[in-house]
Amino acid sequence: MSPVTRHHRGAVQIDPTLLDDIDWVLDMDTAAAPEVVRPLGDELRDYHRDLSLDYDRDHVEGIHDWLYVREVDSVQRLRASLTPGGAVDAQFLSEVRNILDGLTLSFESECGADPCCNDCKWCWFLLLRDRCDAAFNRAGFSRPAYLDALDYDPDEVWRTRGAAATPAGGA
Ligand SMILES: [Zn+2]
Repeated sequence: MSPVTRHHRGAVQIDPTLLDDIDWVLDMDTAAAPEVVRPLGDELRDYHRDLSLDYDRDHVEGIHDWLYVREVDSVQRLRASLTPGGAVDAQFLSEVRNILDGLTLSFESECGADPCCNDCKWCWFLLLRDRCDAAFNRAGFSRPAYLDALDYDPDEVWRTRGAAATPAGGA
């Protein structure tokens, strides 16, 4: 399998709890503050200098336990883009969606086909990726041709998964 990415511009309406759930699954409480991360992210986003593949710049001690600098930056920018009306910047939602997709490929798990247990980190990465896709679908963004249609409701599965494992439950 290879990563399946999407790239969108504009604004997209989301259920803001999606951001809380993403923060929770990605352990964003362990991340360095946005003021620290963003200048590093700006460097990595400087395509002219092509630093995005520079491991040392993207892997900085103290930024996050297991995410790369550019990944933490994308998640933090997504949250910062949230408007009072519940819209976010589609570019950052795309980036975070693609990070979650990448994690389903790199993360070791017993699961790894369709969401099966819905109660492990791998399944959560997949469910959250699909919730991002569902938000794009609802907002009328066209799905890239290479991307399969969602054949289930990831928001519903997320709500009904292992009840103990919710951010609100303090797990
Ligand atoms: Zn699982």
